[in-house]
Amino acid sequence: MSQQFREYEQKVRKASFVLCPSCYWCATYFATVDDKFPECPVCRSVVIDSIPISESEFYHVNITGNGNVELRFRRGA
Ligand SMILES: [Zn+2]
Repeated sequence: MSQQFREYEQKVRKASFVLCPSCYWCATYFATVDDKFPECPVCRSVVIDSIPISESEFYHVNITGNGNVELRFRRGA
């Protein structure tokens, strides 16, 4: 496997948790290049918070009855 192919494979696997601080829309973003998320698809804000997620991590979103949102990041096996 060439070095160039390994670098491409790492870029394809890059995932981030993205959150719009204006309307709280959130998603997992799988990037194929090292660019930032362009804009919120709900409110069109270009300010998007991003948390990188490694291959061995995952997160769980819990929305409670009173509207609070809890995010738990953990490492997988
Ligand atoms: Zn938004």
